[in-house]
Amino acid sequence: MLLGESIILIDAGTQDSPEEAIYPYIRSIGRDPSEISHIILTHAHFDHCGGASVIKRDTGCKVLVHKFGRPYLEDAGLIDRELHERFPSIFPAREARFESIIVDETFEDGDVFDIEGRRIRILHTPGHSACSSCIIDEENGIYISGDSIQGRGDRRPLLFYSAEAYIRILRRLLNEPIKTLVTGHPFPPFNEAVLRGEKVRKHMKESLKGIEELRSQVLRVLRDSIRPLSVGQIYKIVGISRPVTIGCILEDLEREGKAEKTRAEEAYLWSIKKQS
Ligand SMILES: [Zn+2]
Repeated sequence: MLLGESIILIDAGTQDSPEEAIYPYIRSIGRDPSEISHIILTHAHFDHCGGASVIKRDTGCKVLVHKFGRPYLEDAGLIDRELHERFPSIFPAREARFESIIVDETFEDGDVFDIEGRRIRILHTPGHSACSSCIIDEENGIYISGDSIQGRGDRRPLLFYSAEAYIRILRRLLNEPIKTLVTGHPFPPFNEAVLRGEKVRKHMKESLKGIEELRSQVLRVLRDSIRPLSVGQIYKIVGISRPVTIGCILEDLEREGKAEKTRAEEAYLWSIKKQS
């Protein structure tokens, strides 16, 4: 949340968050929810954008997201339909988890806004999702990263888009002058959502190391197997992260010409692509 003449919200939580957390907090600091002028979304996942439709209805505020996020906000069911198509064995068909919302403005990498006298820069950081972005308060070196940088741990990272992109953006972020990193959840190893000083770089280096190791592990499992494997089978052998992250790594390998998939009833089976 950025406070000025008006209130700029970065992300909006789930559909219940406005009444349960956001409005009470705004009142507790002597302001009023009607002062919210903008919601800038780090990405289009239900736990970050779900409250946006409620807040927009209550306040008439503007909703901004990266251009790749627009279709997912304006059609709330799209994300789950796509995941079901890509990974049918992990994601059964399901109802949308938030209410669709009309986007007022989209942004791209490098865009700079002046909102209420505050300079806000956008860094497009895809990997967790295609539209993931860091929202940067440049004057203060504050980077609000949503789920763009996930740290390292047995259940991390959780990627829905691409591990290759995630590795690329982590390398790029290591060159940014970040003073304070605000993440969407308290991610391991520090389990804190606000990181400063030394912890910022350590968190990013751990994130990078984690995904690079996971990627090599998946490739090794695929190379060692004498038969094609499903995402679930590879996940069981690797034993860490999440099936969907492993699915994203496999899709990257397919794009690079290193792996291929075949459809077997309700799942895809993956194997190393034979070099001709
Ligand atoms: Zn997310």
